[in-house]
Amino acid sequence: MGPAAAWLTHIPTSQKVAFLTIDDGWVKQPEAIQLVQAAHVPVTLFLTIDAIRNNPGYFKRLEAGGAVIEAHTLTHPELKGKPLAFQQHEICGSADQLGALYGRRPVLFRPPFGDKDLTTLLVTHQCGMKAAFFWKETVDKGVVHFQEGHTVQPGDIILMHFRPAFAADFLAALQAIHDAGLTPALLENYIP
Ligand SMILES: [Zn+2]
Repeated sequence: MGPAAAWLTHIPTSQKVAFLTIDDGWVKQPEAIQLVQAAHVPVTLFLTIDAIRNNPGYFKRLEAGGAVIEAHTLTHPELKGKPLAFQQHEICGSADQLGALYGRRPVLFRPPFGDKDLTTLLVTHQCGMKAAFFWKETVDKGVVHFQEGHTVQPGDIILMHFRPAFAADFLAALQAIHDAGLTPALLENYIP
């Protein structure tokens, strides 16, 4: 077995920062682009190829607004327990295709549903990516859900999705970060 990618649910830092991540890409509202651009905050997008295939240009516009695009498989399957070749196809395939679409090969990975096994982390590393991520907080329908406590902690990774309530979710996440006395930072800058 070779080296494995790191598995992180938060970034160990005492800096007053938190990380907003946005997954999948099925729902593509024009106002989400305006919101991200206007907010001027860094976000990391873990995009599924099947979800973005019909409009990759949408995410190019988000990228122009400061978002960084990372990998989240081809078809959004459960990876845990799946054979090596299956995981290679899904993980490396998505990094290859995102690299071809956007001109930058992803360096970070999020497994669908946050489910992984050792094979997932080995393959993530083999495919040239440095780390895979879980999360500390989720946002849905404008509400932030905390796994621990009631505030965002320094280094926390927050998960939201491209869903119909994007605006409410995005603003709730920013409010929670602000309420905790933290600033949104770019996840990529904290992964050596
Ligand atoms: Zn997902």
